[in-house]
Amino acid sequence: MKPAPFDYVAPRSLDEAVAALAEGGTDAKLLAGGQSLIPLLNFRLARPALLVDLNRVAELAYVRPRNRGTAIGAMTRQATIERDRALSEKQPLLAEAIRWVGHAAIRSRGTIGGSLAHADPAAELPAVAVCLDAQLSVVGPRGRRTVSADDFFVGYLSTALLSDEILVETWLPPLKPRTGQAWLEFARRHGDFALAGVAVSLSLEDEMVADARIVLTGVGGKPVRAREAETLLVGGSVHERASAAAEAARSAIDPDADIHVTKEYRAHLAGVLTERAILLAHERSLSRAPAALDVRRALEGMSRHA
Ligand SMILES: Cc1cc2nc3c(=O)[nH]c(=O)nc-3n(C[C@H](O)[C@H](O)[C@H](O)COP(=O)(O)OP(=O)(O)OC[C@H]3O[C@@H](n4cnc5c(N)ncnc54)[C@H](O)[C@@H]3O)c2cc1C
Repeated sequence: MKPAPFDYVAPRSLDEAVAALAEGGTDAKLLAGGQSLIPLLNFRLARPALLVDLNRVAELAYVRPRNRGTAIGAMTRQATIERDRALSEKQPLLAEAIRWVGHAAIRSRGTIGGSLAHADPAAELPAVAVCLDAQLSVVGPRGRRTVSADDFFVGYLSTALLSDEILVETWLPPLKPRTGQAWLEFARRHGDFALAGVAVSLSLEDEMVADARIVLTGVGGKPVRAREAETLLVGGSVHERASAAAEAARSAIDPDADIHVTKEYRAHLAGVLTERAILLAHERSLSRAPAALDVRRALEGMSRHA
């Protein structure tokens, strides 16, 4: 099918984009990489009267250090993030997860901002953003505001963005010393959305877990933070508590069944992945080596298969 007719503007600055979006009102939509929006238009599941194309807004495509963390512009392509060696050393969880987003061709057009704003419940980047405690900056006619990733994702394909606002930046805080991270997911075929996936970040102090974040994807309408599992890990030995934490994560979720799997299978899978990811993150935190060393090897392996 072909999209329903729409008007099209391609602003060259953020100010112009904000003005165009405001003028289009609730019938306007932003176009980023088009990897989710164009199929929706083609199937006529979305019928915007106006498309505001962000692809010429160069000021929204960047990766730069800021306040000891990393700021990533919304129009930064997923492939740019995937190939950024310096970024993968600073943010190994992001680097490890992003290679699971669709296929290489999709990542070459798809943007970080588009993935976060689209908020697919089985997507990788929303779960990573919550796990990393990302701060998301949005700009609209009333100015700029910052929303934590925890508050940004509201439900199925829905976020805290208002219809006249543009997500402009994702800021990732620096990792604490002795932090190990892991992303694990299972999909039926490489490139499919995950049946379930999990992001884990553990920080150690004196061989005990001082900080834990565990976030699941594919098991609810939005990224699901396994808070009870996190609490179980803090202050204890990972080997003694990983299994109980995974069980806590599994029992806290109520995933949907679909044509691929039953809800019981999905919950079981989430539990298994969570336990493995906790152990892997722990191993990486103990080695004191940045997990990016493993990620780099994995990325090189992936590029042979992509
Ligand atoms: C075959 C296939 C497989 C895929 N597999 C996966 C997968 O496994 N995991 C995964 O996570 N994704 C997957 N995707 C989706 C892909 O990651 C998209 O890149 C992403 O969901 C949307 O990013 P985009 O830049 O293409 O945004 P677009 O498709 O252009 O936009 C998506 C939505 O976000 C809005 N939007 C875009 N940018 C902004 C912004 N800056 N501010 C506010 N709103 C904005 C748009 O208006 C639209 O509603 C897949 C896509 C395809 C086609």
